Amino acid sequence: MDIYASPTFDMACRQFDLVADHLDIPINDRERLKYPKRALTVAVPVHLDDGSTKVFTGHRVQHHLSLGPTKGGIRYHPDVTLGEVAALAMWMSWKCALTGLPYGGAKGGVAVNPRRLSLGELERLTRRFTQELIPFIGPQIDIPAPDMGTNEQTMAWMMDTYSTHAGHSVPAVVTGKPLSIGGSVGRREATGRGVAYLIGRAMDTLGMNAGSSTAVVQGFGNVGAVAAQSLTKQGVKVIAISDVDGGLYNAHGLDLFKLEQWAQEKRTTLGFPDADPIANDELLRLKCDVLVPAALERQITAANAGQIQCRILAEGANGPTTPDADVILQQRGDVFVIPDILCNAGGVVVSYFEWVQDLQSFFWSESEVVDKLFRILEGAFTQTLALSRKRNLPMRLAALSLGVGRVQEAKRVRGLFP
Ligand code: NAD
Repeated sequence: MDIYASPTFDMACRQFDLVADHLDIPINDRERLKYPKRALTVAVPVHLDDGSTKVFTGHRVQHHLSLGPTKGGIRYHPDVTLGEVAALAMWMSWKCALTGLPYGGAKGGVAVNPRRLSLGELERLTRRFTQELIPFIGPQIDIPAPDMGTNEQTMAWMMDTYSTHAGHSVPAVVTGKPLSIGGSVGRREATGRGVAYLIGRAMDTLGMNAGSSTAVVQGFGNVGAVAAQSLTKQGVKVIAISDVDGGLYNAHGLDLFKLEQWAQEKRTTLGFPDADPIANDELLRLKCDVLVPAALERQITAANAGQIQCRILAEGANGPTTPDADVILQQRGDVFVIPDILCNAGGVVVSYFEWVQDLQSFFWSESEVVDKLFRILEGAFTQTLALSRKRNLPMRLAALSLGVGRVQEAKRVRGLFP
């Protein structure tokens, strides 16, 4: 399927091929499992504030439909391509299956730098993109959520645009909405909170002590900032973080409360006092107990995998480690990897809770949400670790085997139509 050709899609395919070999999946079933079911690319014309009109390119990819509707985020980033979105949709499929959610994977995005648009331009872009997606999404078809560059406000505009067309409110069409229109308590924090929970479980497994551990976090957005704060609450000292503008380092630990205030005011972490600047590639190679890539794909590569100095690599981002880097990490044997489809699954788990609450118009308390979230993550972590130990597999291969195996079984038992 040449339409998806891109480094990130190649990476997702290489991972799939390894799993398919490991599970001995029949050749006749492989392409059906691997390639996305359907994809839509749209032109999104937007009136800009200066009076000009600009056309942006948007995509939505639905990977498989065998377990229910599809589910996945919407990304606004200048590098968004159909291939990247397809890879992210594929990973969503394995993630949902690993955590037992009744969804196939999806992803969408617009090639745009959201920081360069005004609020009004972002709203017009989001509404027009949603309008183009209307025949393709819906509570029983495909349910978007926030991802990099999008947030609760984006979801509110999507929900409103879809609802206006339907003629009534349809909160279950998107998740990650504001609480006031059917969002779930605990959704905003879910991914980062889940990352920190799983780091705690990995520390238990390895006999590490949170109180004497340090962490480095790449990305200070929804996932990275909440993961850093949750780690601090667990007693871990966060010594470095970065965002798109650069990194910050303080060997004594960063004051995340002050940093959060700074970032909210200035819309960047750049220039924060009480810390030294550090380059992104240097940050990834810092000596620490826990490294959390929570920004982009393909950050740990063959070029730096031999130099990272952490005991736990907790993949908050999707696809931060390339297959070549995985080989190096396996040879080293001293880095415990919590693979992306497990590590950042907290987001889609609470998105699922939000969808269930919206469909029932019956809302849960925060403790119910967090308790159910941790129970699901605990199950996925325990199963992945058990398989990894039983078969002597890297954690990524174990997690992917569970996810891919469940989708394969669903396809087998449903059969091929006609
Ligand atoms: P976000 O837009 O809220 O934050 C992204 C952060 O990464 C920002 O701080 C940005 O400045 C930073 N960043 C961008 N380019 C960078 C670079 N080159 N170097 C360092 N930092 C850089 O996005 P998010 O929702 O936190 O998503 C981050 C990652 O987590 C993505 O891979 C996303 O797919 C994944 N993820 C997000 C969720 C979710 O619920 N939001 C769930 C699962 C996985």
